[in-house]
Amino acid sequence: MPELQTDTYQDLDPQVLSKPVVVGLEEVTKVYGIGDLEVRALNGVSLTVRQGEYCSIMGASGSGKSTAMNIIGCLDRPTSGSYYLDGVDVAQMPEGELAGIRNLKLGFVFQQFHLLPQLTALENVMLPMVYAGIPAAERRERGVDALTKVGLESRLQNRPNQLSGGQQQRVAIARAIVNRPVLLLADEPTGALDTKTTQEVMDIFTEFNENGMTVVMVTHEPEVARQTRRVVWFRDGKVIHNNLNPAELSHAVF
Ligand code: ADP
Ligand code: MG
Repeated sequence: MPELQTDTYQDLDPQVLSKPVVVGLEEVTKVYGIGDLEVRALNGVSLTVRQGEYCSIMGASGSGKSTAMNIIGCLDRPTSGSYYLDGVDVAQMPEGELAGIRNLKLGFVFQQFHLLPQLTALENVMLPMVYAGIPAAERRERGVDALTKVGLESRLQNRPNQLSGGQQQRVAIARAIVNRPVLLLADEPTGALDTKTTQEVMDIFTEFNENGMTVVMVTHEPEVARQTRRVVWFRDGKVIHNNLNPAELSHAVF
């Protein structure tokens, strides 16, 4: 492991450090199963992500990246430890309330897109606004706007099976941002895409981040991580690098 200059959280850009905390994980553990079958997926993870950051999470398969993302995205909760999302203690929040936070504060993009096949692109994107109680006329306007932002204004009425993988992922990104979340999460968003489409999708994440969106994504592709501004490295359920400079990512780190 090489000596790296920027590896403590305090070495972040002072401008970043002056921003409010969006993700505050402290000493989080996650244990699956019981007894002999127990798996300690996270073993004391502390992580702070502030407003406007563009952060990637890397690490070997099984190191706990998805478990951490699911907790950050309120799809799962810690076994122990604390989690403040945008200043709210969500670690032990009842499921009903957590579902509301998920819908209003978070956007989640998955490797396999997870669009509803029977709905059009526009209907997929409008769905989170139904749950958020936004009036129908506004839903349509905002849905079209979100799909325009990802370059799919000509594909509103297409169903997922009429779209390429990259286009489906762009619909999923539009769906994730349509409720104007405080945090956009993506777990291996380019894992199912070819190189060219990967770049198209990364250009969209980068543009959203440049417009102020806080973005955290898991990736195992160095060329993807290099386009973010901070790399967090997981090993065996722990954060072993808190703030790698993406420009310093080298094969030595693997
Ligand atoms: P990564 O995303 O880095 O590949 P994961 O967070 O998916 O890692 O998994 C971390 C560890 O937790 C692995 O050992 C995995 O097998 C285990 N694990 C993940 N989800 C579950 C689950 N629902 N039940 C039991 N074990 C799980
Ligand atoms: Mg994973």
